[in-house]
Amino acid sequence: MNQLVEHKLSCPYCGALIVVLIDTSVESQEYVEDCPVCCRPIGFDVSIPAESQDDEINVMVSGEDE
Ligand SMILES: [Zn+2]
Repeated sequence: MNQLVEHKLSCPYCGALIVVLIDTSVESQEYVEDCPVCCRPIGFDVSIPAESQDDEINVMVSGEDE
């Protein structure tokens, strides 16, 4: 069963506020999605703590810069 939760974060490149949908049925996931504003690839590292309530989500974003 999919459970999609909206999560707001800022683009690491241009700082634009982005809303992403996180599938909380997956405990951890990594993916890349282009920023809708500056079109640069943003790396998402999403983790859902197993023992937490279902609205607790950790989302790390990273750019391709070193
Ligand atoms: Zn951006």
